[in-house]
Amino acid sequence: MPGFELFSDLERNEVNDVLDNGVLMRYGFDGMRKGHWKAKSLESELAKTFNVNHVQLVSSGTAAVSVALASAGVGAGDEVIMPTFTFVASFEAIMMLGAIPVLVDIDETLTLDPKAVEAAISSKTKAVMVVQMCGSMGHMDELKAICDTHNLIFVEDACQAIGGTYKGQALGSIADVGCFSFDFVKTITCGEGGAVITNNKNYYLNADHYSDHGHDHVGKDRGAESHPFLGYNFRISELNAAVGLAQVKRLPEFIAIQKKNYFILREALAEIPEVTFRRVPEGGEESYAFLNFFLPNLDIARKVSDEFKLNGIDACFHYYDNSWHYIRKWEHLKELKSLFPISKDVKEGLSYLKTKTFLQSDDVIARNLSCLIKLSWTDSEVRDRATKMVHCIKKYL
Ligand SMILES: *Cc1c(COP(=O)(O)O)cnc(C)c1O
Repeated sequence: MPGFELFSDLERNEVNDVLDNGVLMRYGFDGMRKGHWKAKSLESELAKTFNVNHVQLVSSGTAAVSVALASAGVGAGDEVIMPTFTFVASFEAIMMLGAIPVLVDIDETLTLDPKAVEAAISSKTKAVMVVQMCGSMGHMDELKAICDTHNLIFVEDACQAIGGTYKGQALGSIADVGCFSFDFVKTITCGEGGAVITNNKNYYLNADHYSDHGHDHVGKDRGAESHPFLGYNFRISELNAAVGLAQVKRLPEFIAIQKKNYFILREALAEIPEVTFRRVPEGGEESYAFLNFFLPNLDIARKVSDEFKLNGIDACFHYYDNSWHYIRKWEHLKELKSLFPISKDVKEGLSYLKTKTFLQSDDVIARNLSCLIKLSWTDSEVRDRATKMVHCIKKYL
């Protein structure tokens, strides 16, 4: 997955353009730029690549989720339904707006179970956020139908699945508003960066203004611009955007490599009858950033995970015991350990987490191993890895 594995002169040349004219900021300084607008160019390139009308770059994927929600009007006291398995950014981005994350069970797609979503809807629910985890996707049609029926905003965090598709549409572009991350370890990297993508012009204009102190970006004099509403600073710099501009043009190359490596590993593991694979909704095509598979139970998954480590099979995660991606280890959220006072609404809204159990999610995550697919592996390295993985798994079956 990490695009940094294949950095080349393409990235270097884009960054040098920026350093040559010295304008590191994405807005203004028109005269000094010698025609270089890296952030704007990256926005156009992303719009073209993912076939959406509007793209707003921001400083991170976490910022993208917050800006996306804010742009759609999600705020204090609103409930946002999200999965129990995701990066911590999901609840951080919701809570930054004073909104309440409502965690619900996942199924073997590794994201939202539509039945759990429906059961969690209350009079305060404002949005449903599907997180396209580990290179694949949720039940997009079912989730969209639920949002339509209940008049909810549908948000898509596609930070880990850039390049994947559902019924021919790019992941990230299917819901009302979508998010990408370009942090250092993502398939396309800017070092740090993110994007909000949407076909909703109003959301886009909101995201454009909100991510830059509420500036309306009308006219050529930044100092004279008006501020239709309050905003913050979630801007990306030209240096970061320059790296992403080179990288996004290489997305087809990266996806092709991921796909090739993924299938070498998958075909080897598929020979083992006890191994099953994560469910991909019909019509979906993964980005192949990860290979996710299930073992018969928690005990075997733990042993195989340890055996992988002993045998040098790196970057295979057993998220059940990993602190970052699954609710089991989110003590700081459950206990609301905050540097500053948290609103009464959010405190009350999150009190359910002290007692709620997620048995279905536990069962799925306990059995799952998630292996990162690297871009830099040679053919013989992938084949050797496949052989070793099969050997490690068979030892405990
Ligand atoms: C990486 C990631 C984010 C956050 O992105 P940053 O750019 O690191 O802030 C959000 N959601 C998911 C699913 C991610 O994997």
